[in-house]
Amino acid sequence: YLSLQGIEKNFTNKQNERLLVLDSIDLQVEKGEFVSVVGPSGCGKSTLLYLIAGLDQPDKGKIEVLGKRIEKPSPERVVVFQESGLFPWLTVLENVTYGLLLKKMSKQEAEERARKVLKMVHLSRYEDSYPHQLSGGMKQRVAIARALVMEPEVLLMDEPFSALDEQTRMVLHRELLEIWRQTKVTIIFVTHNIREAVQLSEKIVVMATRPGRIKELINVPVTKDGIMPDSVTLHTEQ
Ligand code: ATP
Ligand code: MG
Repeated sequence: YLSLQGIEKNFTNKQNERLLVLDSIDLQVEKGEFVSVVGPSGCGKSTLLYLIAGLDQPDKGKIEVLGKRIEKPSPERVVVFQESGLFPWLTVLENVTYGLLLKKMSKQEAEERARKVLKMVHLSRYEDSYPHQLSGGMKQRVAIARALVMEPEVLLMDEPFSALDEQTRMVLHRELLEIWRQTKVTIIFVTHNIREAVQLSEKIVVMATRPGRIKELINVPVTKDGIMPDSVTLHTEQ
């Protein structure tokens, strides 16, 4: 479904030295898989994600989705960042419909779709709120809804929950897994936190630093049901 072959990426630092950031990255992701990428700071996780998003180009190798080479950014491969990046002057509903309206979808259809995904993230009652009225966890939920509404081929997540407290993160893990099961969306989830990766994904890509390489591929041999500690209570907004 998604394939990376022989990816190499260099950056030039301020001293004008060439820095090999990603080297010989080969990775296959099947449709509907939930893959995590873990590794130390600076190993190139975000760089890898941005290459898949088409926000940047590899120096060598190729990245394809469904046999189509990725050349530029597209709503087919949306990234959810650590910061929600919501427009503060738009309501929750307007933030979520924004991308659809840009694609010339009718307002009525866009709102219908937006309401469906807002329900999935348990924010139906907040569609008229503005981002500053929401908690950090709620803002990340809106960011996820805004990504999902585009029905992407791949949902790319760059440490989306690392700014949240432990309790909120647990709740969002459970919600994300629920969404993944419902939508069958393919997810690539970057995190520092190996525990988070184990809780969420079927497959973990472990990266090493300097140059960023894939050190290990781990298949997580557990069913996702019941993986959350019992002490975590699910508090939804409705
Ligand atoms: P973290 O866990 O801290 O987010 P990371 O694994 O996501 O780290 P990257 O952000 O991908 O790491 O960075 C990998 C390396 O590439 C770092 O050494 C960084 O300084 C360098 N780098 C990343 N982007 C650029 C850029 N646009 N220009 C120059 N160097 C860059
Ligand atoms: Mg990063």
